[in-house]
Amino acid sequence: MAVGPHWDLVIASLVIPEGLVRLRDVLAASLHLVFPSPCATCGRPLDWERRSALCGTCWSRLERMPTSGCQRCGWPYPAAETAAGAAEPLCQRCREAADAFRLARAPLRYRQDGIARAAILLAKHGGRLPLLHHLAHLLAAEAPRFLAPEEWDVLVPVPLHWRRRWRRGFNQAEVLARAVGRAMGISVAGRALRRVRATPPQQGDPEARRRNVRDAFRVPRPGQIAGRRVLLVDDVFTTGATANAAARALLAAGAAEVGVLTLARVE
Ligand SMILES: [Zn+2]
Ligand SMILES: [Zn+2]
Repeated sequence: MAVGPHWDLVIASLVIPEGLVRLRDVLAASLHLVFPSPCATCGRPLDWERRSALCGTCWSRLERMPTSGCQRCGWPYPAAETAAGAAEPLCQRCREAADAFRLARAPLRYRQDGIARAAILLAKHGGRLPLLHHLAHLLAAEAPRFLAPEEWDVLVPVPLHWRRRWRRGFNQAEVLARAVGRAMGISVAGRALRRVRATPPQQGDPEARRRNVRDAFRVPRPGQIAGRRVLLVDDVFTTGATANAAARALLAAGAAEVGVLTLARVE
């Protein structure tokens, strides 16, 4: 079969007004029927089971997290680390960390050479909104297996600084939160948290990451948050530095407690 180029990208590069993005999708889908694009991760022609730029096989191979693990961060830690007699509820990271959030959960594993990582980077930096929507539906469908929806009052996406959001055109955390909110029947407070400092992308060791996001968040209207159980939503949980900085701002504004739901968890 003839393999076509990445039609989504070819068409995205054409100057089509933002209002006509649906036309782009229809055009890309039609071209795919004639010349299927290669899968963004394995390179085989995209099939009927594809999710945007990922073929059905790659989608089904997205790395999953088990639903049981550390009570706080969800990480599956080896049984050897459990205390003699009683099971240790917290992994080593969580026993040593002073986390502000009560729990963090993610349905996907973010591995260096993994499909989940490739998919998230493509959705976020490749401007692949359709792929992001597929990932958001996956998160919405999986979330109730990892946490109890009735334990949370409001969803708050981790905000981008306005300049980054403007450049990217969307905040991936907000797209994820909207899908989860619809599926779990929880309202989304999209502007409850504001990023008051433009921080460089997170990198380096945990201490560098902590410094980078310290005091980066504000709650402009504490009344929106006070007394409520807040579930923060973001794309990736790495060391927890961003989640902790955001959780501290929410708790200072009077949140009853803070949980974290991300699409993926870095190994
Ligand atoms: Zn593939
Ligand atoms: Zn843990």
